[in-house]
Amino acid sequence: MLEYDDRIAVAVSGGKDSLSLLQILANIEQNYPKTSIIAISVDEGIKGYRDKALKIASENCKKLRIEHQIISFKKAYGLTQDEIIHNIQKKERANELTPCAYCGVLRRKLINIKAREVEADKVAMAHTLDDEVQTILLNILHGDPLRIAREKPITDLTHPELIQRIKPFCKIPEKETALYAYTRRLIFQDRPCPYSSKAMRNDTRVFLNRMEQKHAGIKFSIFRSMQRIRPALEMITEEIELKECSECGEQTTQSTCRACQLLQQM
Ligand code: SF4
Ligand code: ZN
Repeated sequence: MLEYDDRIAVAVSGGKDSLSLLQILANIEQNYPKTSIIAISVDEGIKGYRDKALKIASENCKKLRIEHQIISFKKAYGLTQDEIIHNIQKKERANELTPCAYCGVLRRKLINIKAREVEADKVAMAHTLDDEVQTILLNILHGDPLRIAREKPITDLTHPELIQRIKPFCKIPEKETALYAYTRRLIFQDRPCPYSSKAMRNDTRVFLNRMEQKHAGIKFSIFRSMQRIRPALEMITEEIELKECSECGEQTTQSTCRACQLLQQM
């Protein structure tokens, strides 16, 4: 996933997964003097949750002597995630999309912008095996199975403005990142996001954990099955043509990017 001279932007949320990844990459980096690491975080503006997590993230970066840059929803979009949710509830659109549907799209865009700004070659995401398998199932449950072809552990280089995303923990169960964090005595945000219970991802997590408990290894099986199926999916997936969003200029497959579409609904 990495080259000896990569500038790596690690997406750090302040949770156990991202702080474990940061620590591990920082350890590895010591043997590669031409590599550099920078931590980037998105402040979605979730009161009592993200503010605390970002404080923890900053303290960990300070300990590891890694530069930490934060980009916020409020500054970039003029609204915090809390305000977005308040607005959609007011408009009685709450059932149309879950809070995570807004948050995920808007965060993804800012991570790319910040990674480009700091001249990163790669963005390292701390998505674990659990996250990967949940995403596979969610794509199927949402009726969008071809999306699995694009959600690879290393994304394709489709445009110079889109920084390549890598997922070094894609074969690491979440329990193991938790174990690592505890044995290393890392301090991390251990409370769940107040909006997470509304997401279908949460139901998928519960389902997969139940299955894993009864049939050990099932998460690996799903992940490996998808790795085998993905080349066939890629063959039937049309090549994406990227354009500039008419509103913000970021790369998109439509005339207006999904983030701008969501913001227009506000
Ligand atoms: Fe955003 Fe949902 Fe994650 Fe909360 S759980 S930070 S709302 S994506
Ligand atoms: Zn846009």
